[in-house]
Order: sequence, then C-alpha cells, then structure tokens
Amino acid sequence: MNAQTPAPGPLSLVPFVSVDDMMRLIARIGLRPALRELADYVERDFRRWDDFDKTPRVAAHSPGGVIELMPTSDGETYAFKYVNGHPRNGRTGHQTVTAFGVLSDVATGYPLLVSEMTILTALRTAATSAMAARHLAPKGARTMAMIGNGAQCAFQALAFAEVAGITSVRLFDVDAAATRAAARHLRDAGLDVAECTTPEAAIEGARIVTTCTADKRNATILTDNMVGPGVHLNAIGGDCPGKTELHRDVVARASMFVEYPPQTRIEGELQQMPEDHPFTELHRVVRGEAPGRTSDDQITLFDSVGFAVEDFSALCWVRDKVGGDAPALDLLADPDDPRDLFGMLRRGGVAV
Ligand code: NAD
Repeated sequence: MNAQTPAPGPLSLVPFVSVDDMMRLIARIGLRPALRELADYVERDFRRWDDFDKTPRVAAHSPGGVIELMPTSDGETYAFKYVNGHPRNGRTGHQTVTAFGVLSDVATGYPLLVSEMTILTALRTAATSAMAARHLAPKGARTMAMIGNGAQCAFQALAFAEVAGITSVRLFDVDAAATRAAARHLRDAGLDVAECTTPEAAIEGARIVTTCTADKRNATILTDNMVGPGVHLNAIGGDCPGKTELHRDVVARASMFVEYPPQTRIEGELQQMPEDHPFTELHRVVRGEAPGRTSDDQITLFDSVGFAVEDFSALCWVRDKVGGDAPALDLLADPDDPRDLFGMLRRGGVAV
C-alpha cells in the first residue's frame, strides 16, 4: 500500500466518488494537470502491459446501442467499468456514453472504490489519445481538426493542448450548435478555434485529425482524398461492430496502431480490413519495442476503441487522488460472524 492509498476503514464501507466529488476533485487539481497526470498513469500501465489479465469487453448489443463490461486485473488490483454507447440518446436529452466503475483488492475480493466514470471516461479517453499522439503525431504539430463536437470533443482538444502541444483546433459537426458550444469552451481555455461548416474545411492545415462522431453505422467521415501525407489520425468514434468512421482506403494507406488486438478486431476500424492487415500494438511503441512514426510523410492512425487497462489506470488515479477523503458507501454486508449472514438479517428485525 503506498502513501496515497486511502486509510483503511471498515471493509464494509467502500469509498464512493460521486459525480459531484469528481467535479470537485478535478476543480482542485485543475483540468489540464488532471489530463497530464492521467496520460502519465495510462502510459505507465501501457509500459507494464504484460502484468495485466486482458480480455475483450463483454458487450450486449441492441438496435439503439450497446452496454459493456470492461474488466482487467494486474494480479493485485482488479477493475471493471460499466459503460454504454447509445448514439440516439442525445435526441431525448441523454448522454451517448455514461459509465461507472469499481476497483477491488484481488487478495480479499473486497471493493476498494466505487466511482462515477462518465466524466472520468472522457478524461481517460482524451488522455490516452494524447499519450498516443506523443508517440505518433508529427513533431511540431500545432493544429488539430476535430470532427464530431459532442461530449468528448473539448476533453480531447484540451488533452492534446496539454500533452501534445496543440494550440489551434478546427471544429466541424453536422450539428452547428454542438460546434458552437465546443468552440466557446475551447476559446475560454485559451485555444485558437476555427468553426468550420464542412469536414474538408476543418482538416485544412491540420496535422492531427480526431474523429469522434457517434453513429451506429459504417460511416465515412474521412475519405481517401481528404487525408494528405504526414497526418496523424486519432479515430475514437468507431468503437463497436458495424460502427466505423474512416473509408477503408484511408485505413489501408495508414500505419495502424491499436490497443488490444482481439477487441480492436471486432470494434475498431480494423474490422473493415482483411485478417492479415498489419498493425502495431501501442504498448510496444510506448515500451520502445516497435517504432511509432518513422517518416514525415507517414500517415499514422490510432484506431482507438477504449480498453479496460485505461480505465484501470484512471480508477487508480482517482484512488490516489481522493486519499481518505471520499465518503463511504455501506455496500457490503458485514455480519459479526461471517458465516451467519442470516442472523444479521434477523437482528435487523426480519421475522422468519
Ligand atoms: P456525442 O453523441 O456527445 O457526440 C457525437 C457528435 O458527433 C454529435 O455532436 C453529432 O452531431 C456528431 N456527428 C454525428 N455524425 C457526424 C458526422 N457524420 N459528421 C460530423 N459530426 C457528426 O458522443 P460522444 O460522447 O462525444 O462520443 C463520440 C464517440 O466516441 C461515440 O461513438 C463514442 O462511442 C466514442 N467513444 C470512444 C471512446 C474510446 O475510448 N475510443 C471513449 C468514449 C467515447
């Protein structure tokens, strides 16, 4: 247990980070430092990739979206996230993506933390994208295009500003109101912002292009003629079977970098490609075992789908940051005699 781990309380009381607590935590640390710290936590865990027990997430698909469980463990600590993706939710005033997660002690199986993860997912996705760009984007890139200006957009742009040196963003969304809202946030954050009316205008002069649209179909947000040499593509919206963002020809021309191949194969842009399509696992680049960008003209593609290890890193970050301050949830039954669970119920007034 390191110095930042919460002081142990009764094991039945589990530290709980609500949405309000998460907002307070980020306000205390600062959004930019939080993104930088998260990028470092994710990178640290990518460096020790082999320590993790890995499996593609368990997905329950329906016509409107997907509900997923994302588990992993490093042998000492276990984590899982519950997350959904429902692209049509916005029409009824709901989020496309909501999430919560749990961190547990492998030795006892007892939960150590329960946390909101809707905000945390936006932070960790942005931090992971920016961490990948640190290894793959062209040196000196200052301008990023963002296609899809919904919930993830401002987090992505700010993480790229903080971690990868972006100073200017060019925004496009089919919904101009989404672009206006993102533009306001990003100008307030000190970025130079252009609001564009076509995706072609958005990518003009951009050396990094992030696609974060939500649509459950094989979309072609970027076609082959739109992507010039030397660009880094950060494709985060294609993250489900039958849901992709890039034309196949763009994917074919790019050097592809992925998180966990068995999951990306089902969910990422990789699902469009033949079995033998080449890719590099990002953790190998992070560990210096494989090259990232090798030339100025190369098109690099981070085919991001979001992997459980990133959520593990994010939950560990929250655990380290909240210390002993989180309120506790009375989540676990705690009978005086562990074998007499029934007696606890009776002492609580339940008649037999
Ligand atoms: P959101 O619904 O808040 O925003 C999506 C935006 O895309 C909307 O503003 C919509 O108008 C826009 N859009 C849809 N089709 C478009 C098109 N053809 N061109 C331009 N804009 C278009 O969703 P969000 O929470 O921002 O998530 C975006 C995507 O990222 C989702 O598909 C989600 O599943 C995915 N996601 C991936 C990860 C990851 O780790 N890779 C993590 C979180 C979310």
